Amino acid sequence: MAKTPRQRIVKRLDDLLREIVRLRDNDTCQKCGKTVYGSNSQPSHVIAKGRCLLLRWDLLNVKLLCNSCHRWWHLNPINAASWFADRFPSRYDYVKQYEYKLSRMRMSDFQQIESLLKAKLQDLKGDAK
Ligand SMILES: [Zn+2]
Repeated sequence: MAKTPRQRIVKRLDDLLREIVRLRDNDTCQKCGKTVYGSNSQPSHVIAKGRCLLLRWDLLNVKLLCNSCHRWWHLNPINAASWFADRFPSRYDYVKQYEYKLSRMRMSDFQQIESLLKAKLQDLKGDAK
């Protein structure tokens, strides 16, 4: 089935986000400290990506986890939230203020996010050299 322009840009943004989070978090699970690759390397949202589209591609709302820490994250929401608050206090305060906000996105919003993410990726790649 043909994808709409909106579905295509959502996919591109998800791909960019995954690449950036892996670089930023140094291929390391932020919970257990294990080095992670491939399908064991999972970008995990603090506020679920379906809840708030603006936060779906906000790097402060995403951390890299291994498969088993990601499962733990979803099965233990209360412990998970307090772990995150403890580990990343300023990010916790930041995402918390968006928890009940809904966002409507226009195509121009998606495009703006895409250029921000591309710039961020370039930065991270530049640092690695
Ligand atoms: Zn882990």
